[in-house]
Amino acid sequence: MPRRCPVCGKEVPEDPRPPSYPFCSPRCGLVDLGDWLAERHAISEDSPDSESAGAGEGEIPK
Ligand SMILES: [Zn+2]
Repeated sequence: MPRRCPVCGKEVPEDPRPPSYPFCSPRCGLVDLGDWLAERHAISEDSPDSESAGAGEGEIPK
């Protein structure tokens, strides 16, 4: 039962397995990695200003 590339759906040979396994080609592997990195970047992108808001109460400048 041939495995299919998760990116493009093309059949990937099992014997011998390509270096890009489980992808049909290094290109498809890069596409998947790019998606993964983009997702990771989106998650880590938090608003850094949330902690500075609300400060200054009780501080009276002379
Ligand atoms: Zn592919």
